Amino acid sequence: MAIAKKEAGTPQSVAVVGAGPVGALAALYMAQLGWRVSLYEARSDIRKEQVYHGRSINLALSTRGILALRGTKLNLDEEVLREAIPMRGRMIHDQHGRQSSQAYGVHGEASRWTYINSVDRGKLNCRLLDAAEKHPNIKLKFGHKVVHCQPDLGALVVETGTDDARETFTISHDFIIGADGAFSTIRRALMRCTRMDYQQAYIPHCYRELTIQARVDAEGNRSFAMDPYHLHIWPKMSYMMIALPNTDQSFTCTLFMPQEKFDAIRSQQQLVEFFQQEFPDAYELIGRESLCEEYFRNPLGSLISIKCKPYHYQDKMVIIGDAAHSMVPFYGQGMNAGMEDVMILQEMLLRYQNSLSDALDAYTALRHDDAVAICDLAMYNYVEMRAHVHSPVYRARKAIEGV
Ligand code: FAD
Repeated sequence: MAIAKKEAGTPQSVAVVGAGPVGALAALYMAQLGWRVSLYEARSDIRKEQVYHGRSINLALSTRGILALRGTKLNLDEEVLREAIPMRGRMIHDQHGRQSSQAYGVHGEASRWTYINSVDRGKLNCRLLDAAEKHPNIKLKFGHKVVHCQPDLGALVVETGTDDARETFTISHDFIIGADGAFSTIRRALMRCTRMDYQQAYIPHCYRELTIQARVDAEGNRSFAMDPYHLHIWPKMSYMMIALPNTDQSFTCTLFMPQEKFDAIRSQQQLVEFFQQEFPDAYELIGRESLCEEYFRNPLGSLISIKCKPYHYQDKMVIIGDAAHSMVPFYGQGMNAGMEDVMILQEMLLRYQNSLSDALDAYTALRHDDAVAICDLAMYNYVEMRAHVHSPVYRARKAIEGV
């Protein structure tokens, strides 16, 4: 296959910084285009870790992500969907634990390929890394943190080793792809060499994950404690909890609330009273012990929205995924949109085969408005999920009560 390159005939080297879902996918696409890829990841190899330290345990994979996986022509979409749980609608839990299902589409619009699918973030990332490892054009470099970047020279300053024995070296590549997440080092370097417009906002809400374990009967058979084919939502107008199913029959719940509300819960007694009052059915399913243990142990995550432009510098580098457009998670599209970035970047590299800088100009021009739109939709969908999913009668009553 042809590559957008500077000198025809010579395979070019590209550094992909960040081996999260977007970076790992980008490495595969670039390798398939004929580039020699070095994939730098600050963390150790997640496939060898006991516990995955990603940003959420599971997430919703939707059409954008599925198509991008399919684009590798490695059956990754099929493999990932085999381990995914389709969520055909949302299940709204009211104050008294009553549940009402709202289908995603009432005329059969939703199908296996257009559902949102609950997938294990760690397993998805591992599958991508396995595929990358098998490709002869890709070198995986775990424990390699990029600490500095000199775009004009295509140079990366990389730190390896542990606190006791740290080493730093500089390495050059023809092209750099920054897929290093919301706090991107590559974006910081891009800011210094372009007239980048940049906007960042933390929302007042934070999140913490909790677990509803599988039910286990006397014979040891496991089953789901709630309907697994729904995204469960406990809307509370100014905050909410959601739950996505896992293939081990558990659910991962994510509680989204303003930070002050989290901070105000200081004791187990306060926590239990809060859950009994606000999420009585979830409280029963999580159980007092697990709730108290996980709530005070699990980290509180912040939610950031980032927009910027341009995404590239000459024919030297480009940023994709959260590095380019971090969004709040309420539309379930952050990773999906990042994977779509990879497909579009490939399309531009193929369209402008003789000029990498034209391909990157076209990429920023084409991608920016869509990325901004999805960041805005994600922000809007928080209001939809925590307040508008209620029935009109419920909303009217709350409005009268002034809640
Ligand atoms: P990351 O996943 O952040 O990966 C970046 C990688 O770069 C990391 O491995 C990091 O270690 C590495 N790195 C960072 N700095 C360096 C460096 N200097 N040198 C080398 N390596 C570096 N999205 C969805 O599509 N659907 C969902 O349902 C969904 N749910 C979410 C729920 C929550 C609670 C949150 C917080 C996010 C959710 N998202 C969801 C968004 C999704 O997590 C992100 O959009 C996605 O992880 C972005 O992938 P990425 O590869 O761009 O960045």
